[in-house]
Amino acid sequence: MGKISDELYAKACAVMPGGVNSPVRAFKAVGGGPLFIKQGQGSRMVDADDRSFIDYCMSWGVLILGHAHPFVVEALKKAVVKGLSYGAPTAAETELAEAVAAAFPSVEKVRLTPSGTEAVMSAVRLARAHTGRDLVVKVDGGYHGHGDQLLVQSGSGVLTFGLPGTPGIPAGVTQQTLSIPYNDTQALRELAARHGEGVAAFIVEPVMGNAGVIPPEPEYLATLRSLCDQMGALLIFDEVITGFRLAYGGAQESYGVRADLTTLGKILGGGLPLAAYGGRREIMDQIAPEGPVYQAGTHAGNPLAVAAGLATLKVVKNAQTYEQLEERGQALESGMREIAGRYEVPLQINRVGSMFTFFFTAGPVRDLASAQKANTKMFTRFFNLMLEGGVYLPPSQFEAGFISLAHSTKDLEDTLDAADRALKTVAREFEFGPYR
Ligand SMILES: *Cc1c(COP(=O)(O)O)cnc(C)c1O
Repeated sequence: MGKISDELYAKACAVMPGGVNSPVRAFKAVGGGPLFIKQGQGSRMVDADDRSFIDYCMSWGVLILGHAHPFVVEALKKAVVKGLSYGAPTAAETELAEAVAAAFPSVEKVRLTPSGTEAVMSAVRLARAHTGRDLVVKVDGGYHGHGDQLLVQSGSGVLTFGLPGTPGIPAGVTQQTLSIPYNDTQALRELAARHGEGVAAFIVEPVMGNAGVIPPEPEYLATLRSLCDQMGALLIFDEVITGFRLAYGGAQESYGVRADLTTLGKILGGGLPLAAYGGRREIMDQIAPEGPVYQAGTHAGNPLAVAAGLATLKVVKNAQTYEQLEERGQALESGMREIAGRYEVPLQINRVGSMFTFFFTAGPVRDLASAQKANTKMFTRFFNLMLEGGVYLPPSQFEAGFISLAHSTKDLEDTLDAADRALKTVAREFEFGPYR
């Protein structure tokens, strides 16, 4: 993808599986090798070959303020000279937990973890302990980190690479996991009738992000809420992406549905590794040392990560964040619709606020099965043309793109210019509309 990136990639592949530390980064789904990044500022990333890109991956949704936001960088500079890790409590952790509880009315107590994966694993363990039941229900294409039990019909890299199942995970572990289609309340009713008494929790990304963006249909989340109550199961909203992204109080605020347990990550750490899970006091108090459910972490609540997270939440809370993100999201969406219409390219644009996916299918995309109808060859071509045009999208048809507060009107215009050229080429090569 660039001379120096290619050299760095060859070196990386010699010492790291696939040359990367997380699978989707490798660009395998879109051909070629990954870009190696040496710097990020605002809406842009610069690669090893000194090319600058408008970034819509934004570290997979982490960077709601854009790269290296000055307020966050300042907070980190102040924190870094005071020490990097203590393995003892700090006042800032309480401050962050208070901020999370204030943002999410369903959350009274919070436990910080280093990664979203750990937050989810712990929330599931807690739900099982709390209900005394074993079964966990998820949706097809939902991604909840790489813990053993939820790598069933998973999204993100598992979906992108079409991985068959879960080598290395004993069948006994995944037998306790059931998966049903998203946006399908009938499937959930049937499951409740058959297994209801054994279900500890239903875990779902309230807006799917890891099969590409898929919004909930009206009443879907409310129906989940009431069916979970009927089953006596806990409803876990995995808001690792949507928390502080759709609204300050996440999808729970936007859709007015409360979860029993909530997992957060990505934006919460302001660019550093930090995540959390939380819920009502009586549930959370079962976590050690208050209760018997064990869960721990050397790096949990790391002072630098907490400083970055607190600084990020402060900026997000004080700005007209969600109005601005919605405006920019609308501008991108309507521009793309116009261009796709002009070249008669079948493009389903799924967008909720600042998260979006351009699915190369006539759509609609409402679950994993309809997402998988997308033409990944067309996406790959589009992705690479956009890259040549200076726009970095997440390198898979089945991932969400993210707009940040750093994306300017000019960035959006440049993006749409690049998209116009890219979709025109796609239309010509795949023989749509004017090129039929
Ligand atoms: C990213 C993600 C996770 C996993 O978080 P990590 O920090 O990568 O372990 C879990 N759930 C959802 C919805 C995610 O998007």
